[in-house]
Amino acid sequence: MNTIPEYFGEYVFNDTIMRQRLPKDIYHKMKATMEQGTSLDLSVANVVANAMKDWAIEKQATHYTHWFQPMTGITAEKHESFICPQDASHVILEFSGKELIKGEPDASSFPNGGLRATFEARGYTNWDPTSFAFIKDHTLCIPTVFCSFDGSALDKKTPLLRSMEVINRQAMRIISLFPNEGITHVSTTVGPEQEYFLIDKALYEQRPDLILTGRTLFGAKVTRGQEMEDHYFGMISQRVSAFMQDVDQELWKLGIFAKTEHKEVAPAQFELAPVFTTANIASDQNQLTMEILQKVAERHGFACLLHEKPFAHINGSGKHNNWSLTTNNGINLLEPGQTPQKNARFLLFLLAVVKAVDEYQGLLRVCVATAGNDHRLGANEAPPAIISIFLGDELEAVLDAIENDHVYDQTYERSMKIGVDALPKFPKDTTDRNRTSPFAFTGNKFEFRMLGSSLSISCPNYILNTIVAEELSKFADVLENANDFEKALHTLIKETIQEHKRIIFNGNGYTEEWLKEAKQRGLLNLPTTADAIPYYITSNNIALFTKHGIFNENELKARDAILYETYYKKCNIEALTMVRMVEQDILPAVIDYENMLLMNAEKKQLLFKQEKHTTLIQKLDELTNALYESTQTLKEKLKQMDEHDMKAAAMSCKESILPQMDIVRHYTDQLEEITAKSYWPYPDYFDLLYRS
Ligand code: ADP
Ligand code: MG
Repeated sequence: MNTIPEYFGEYVFNDTIMRQRLPKDIYHKMKATMEQGTSLDLSVANVVANAMKDWAIEKQATHYTHWFQPMTGITAEKHESFICPQDASHVILEFSGKELIKGEPDASSFPNGGLRATFEARGYTNWDPTSFAFIKDHTLCIPTVFCSFDGSALDKKTPLLRSMEVINRQAMRIISLFPNEGITHVSTTVGPEQEYFLIDKALYEQRPDLILTGRTLFGAKVTRGQEMEDHYFGMISQRVSAFMQDVDQELWKLGIFAKTEHKEVAPAQFELAPVFTTANIASDQNQLTMEILQKVAERHGFACLLHEKPFAHINGSGKHNNWSLTTNNGINLLEPGQTPQKNARFLLFLLAVVKAVDEYQGLLRVCVATAGNDHRLGANEAPPAIISIFLGDELEAVLDAIENDHVYDQTYERSMKIGVDALPKFPKDTTDRNRTSPFAFTGNKFEFRMLGSSLSISCPNYILNTIVAEELSKFADVLENANDFEKALHTLIKETIQEHKRIIFNGNGYTEEWLKEAKQRGLLNLPTTADAIPYYITSNNIALFTKHGIFNENELKARDAILYETYYKKCNIEALTMVRMVEQDILPAVIDYENMLLMNAEKKQLLFKQEKHTTLIQKLDELTNALYESTQTLKEKLKQMDEHDMKAAAMSCKESILPQMDIVRHYTDQLEEITAKSYWPYPDYFDLLYRS
């Protein structure tokens, strides 16, 4: 067995491999494309393709695929073999530059929100040379973007790449206002912490709800949930530990820096955190990580659940999106500086985020809105559905001092003027981790905590990049034209604090008081996806995305349509699955049990002349009737949904279907509690959570 440093990245066509295998001039052209986005001509692509193919074949690859991220939120691939027939009995293995650069998957069934008419159903995949190619399951995977014939983005990667260029441009304008330190480029760095559940595969197979919807639609509370709080960071069982080792190895081979693994708060829940990297690579890697978690789980007899809320009564799973801005020479722009000038720059970047989050609350809420995440956000275990920023007491005190021209630190007996007077050394506040905050500054990065566990991180990151770029551009507009730079800087910072401090909240986000206060502050509270989607294509957001060239109006409308459609489809599948489970499994099982009890009561009456003891039977009977009735109502409501108007259908899901599903579940869970376990048709929460 090779050592970790030896096999780390062994399946990635990375920089080292390229340097080894490409002629020098080709390597440099390739690097320029990766770093500066210069275009590649076909002759270069041919050489790269050939080197990739030789390398892949040495690693036992037989196929290649363009690997992309359609708007389903998962990845897609269509495998082609390298085989090229020579004559009736001979083949050679080929892979051309043309095949590397462009693909035409028959992609008519990927969601497109109306961007492709069926007569032009073709979608094109274009090589994204900024992400490394890699080998997975004997297939050379080439990261690509996916677009329609007219170039409209049909995927989650294109807008992310566009947004990275935009934030680079705007951040460089701010950087140019200060003495340069050799900075030529700024990228967003992202480290997504991934939560998941592991349950026994054989038990999973017995739950149609888990198989079809990813979550349990029924399940009475176990007598022991997470109240002992002893699962968090607890000992990892041998079986899980073997699984984690295997996951790490697979990820390391793919060059993914899987770093931290631990148990989470809920039973059977775990977390994996990678070391951060550039946003587009982090996004690719997170998709791969989710895929590998599920694949390796199967090998170990587990099912890995990535749903946001697989079980009621215990915590759901999220994904913390750690986000920062880093320069080409490794300076983290959200790291408080040691000198006044660097602190002024730091404050500009910090406040650009504060202002962006305040002004685009709706957009940030929409980008994490999914049917699954609705069960999690605001449920006293995950961040509330209201967006606010946690800065920590120290940093808030600094902002407060600037806003009011107060002395922040007694050792500095002057009022604080940015860039003029010496600022105190900013304390790096990493200790106070307010877990209730949806958007927390954690020392040198922001942690966006509202993402659900199964979400592609592309969308939250291109939204963050775009809204922060917009604020940076507005700051730059003011400062570039200022006659008195220092004065303009001070005013800008002070006014930004004044205007946007309402979004800063360091307290407990789970309390009723916060709900009230947030309302007073005028912050948005959008509890469900159906409430959030209308905040997506507002005129303000259309202006934002078109200004920066992230989306045109049609692309935005398409995404809006997909949001509604996906939400509706998920709810509909859940409701249909629920009905089927009740009618085919649960009611028959409970009736069987009731019959057994009835027979028993009759026998007792005959034999011992006892009074029929019927309390339990009556209770079962009442609940069974209530369950039957509520299920019929659910069916009726499903029939009434208008499938031709997705917006209306989404609203019915929220207002009519989901509440009715809660009623059906309510009766079922009560029945589960009083029905003999041997009669219950499915493994219960105890089995799923404690017997895996
Ligand atoms: P913890 O939150 O457990 O103390 P860290 O704060 O070190 O751990 O990191 C949590 C996640 O944040 C990791 O995935 C890490 O790679 C990521 N992270 C750390 N620094 C940055 C950064 N500058 N940009 C983006 N992500 C970062
Ligand atoms: Mg975290």
